[in-house]
Amino acid sequence: MALSGLDIFKLLPKTNCGECGVPTCMAFAMKIAQKKAELSSCPYASEEAKAALGAASEPPVRRVKIGGGGGLEVGGETVLFRHEKTFFHPTGIGLEIRTSQGEEKTREDIRQLESYQVDRVGEVLKANLFFISHDSEDKAALLRTISLVKESSTKGLIIDCPQEEALREGLELLPGDRPAIYLRRPLAEKDIEMAKAINASLVITASSHQDLAEQTEKARTGGLTNLILNCPGEGLAGGIQNNAILRRSALKKSFKPFGFPLFARIADEDGFQSLAASAALLCKYASIIILPRFDKALLYTLFTLRQNIYTDPQKPIQVDPKVYAIGDPTPDSPVFVTTNFSLTYFIVSGEIENSGTSAHLVVCDTEGQSVLTAWAGGKFVPEKIAKFIKDIKLEEKVNTRKIVIPGFVAQISGELEEKLPGWEVIVGCQEAADIPSFVKSVKLA
Ligand code: SF4
Repeated sequence: MALSGLDIFKLLPKTNCGECGVPTCMAFAMKIAQKKAELSSCPYASEEAKAALGAASEPPVRRVKIGGGGGLEVGGETVLFRHEKTFFHPTGIGLEIRTSQGEEKTREDIRQLESYQVDRVGEVLKANLFFISHDSEDKAALLRTISLVKESSTKGLIIDCPQEEALREGLELLPGDRPAIYLRRPLAEKDIEMAKAINASLVITASSHQDLAEQTEKARTGGLTNLILNCPGEGLAGGIQNNAILRRSALKKSFKPFGFPLFARIADEDGFQSLAASAALLCKYASIIILPRFDKALLYTLFTLRQNIYTDPQKPIQVDPKVYAIGDPTPDSPVFVTTNFSLTYFIVSGEIENSGTSAHLVVCDTEGQSVLTAWAGGKFVPEKIAKFIKDIKLEEKVNTRKIVIPGFVAQISGELEEKLPGWEVIVGCQEAADIPSFVKSVKLA
């Protein structure tokens, strides 16, 4: 039976030292109860607590880290559907590099993946991994490929090498890098020992659920829990079905052998097939997706999808409330006011830029809500806007005494003028797309 936060708290040291990352033992107990933390994060947990909490403190899907430093953390999920709470660790996206493809192409692949990133609604989106597939007998080619990736990248590495000696030598090039080892064959004792020796993870491949469960139990019995599961199934439908069964078993049935992040390797098909497969698997629980080639269109689509799925639905994405300089404004430039919902900010700032006008954009704190939602919720109302404008001392930053409010809240213009003596409130357009024509038709400063 699951333990409550209070039950767990009784087993903790109660010193509130904060070393577990939260300020009090009670807060830590609540996180364990919600499966958002593991007992191992408390260095002072007694043996009695470890024995009593045991499985209760393990998250239903274990967190696994690949890569040194910041690295990539995957797993740790607690719900089947994002709207039930949120998903915690975004899918890691990686690029496959074959050791037979030659140094020139390898360098080009690394350069392209390292340099490709997308800035979207205030977040920088990037790929996370390289997957090195050793598809020749040439051991030197594997070692050279690993060295090339290490020279130019800090991304995590997954190594797929069926030759044991070459694999061992390759792993020696990655001290402290927490790589993952991809197994094409069934798990053996020596794999467990090899992974434990260098703190690596194992990607376990199986063609059936029974086979997969037996392999993960073998690893767990051998003391290795950094596992990633690969159960591809027949075609895309089989892969989705398997992922759904594995994740559902872990979350709804607490079936420990399947309580690990899931892996997907996309076949090298035409662009549409690759996109369809990777997008579907990203939606259905793949914690790691390996793409067969560098393709900006494919990456951009997956970045966007991943960002949408892994954004916490309980917390609107938001930007800092402050005055933003759009273009190169002077104290005489016009002043616009909006909310700090990220999409609103980026659309409004983009359209001001498109208008060719430099301006000051006052972004009020509405807890990430858009204009009408914030107004309806009492967060974008004259009193709060006026207080914010006074708090940031806007009148000392600009010479103009005109501010433009969104057209959707025209009704607050009179009251806002009353709360901001000396300022003229201009009602702007309703749609941001109309800002370029609006600034041409109205004298704003
Ligand atoms: Fe309490 Fe342990 Fe966290 Fe310290 S590290 S606050 S003792 S739970």
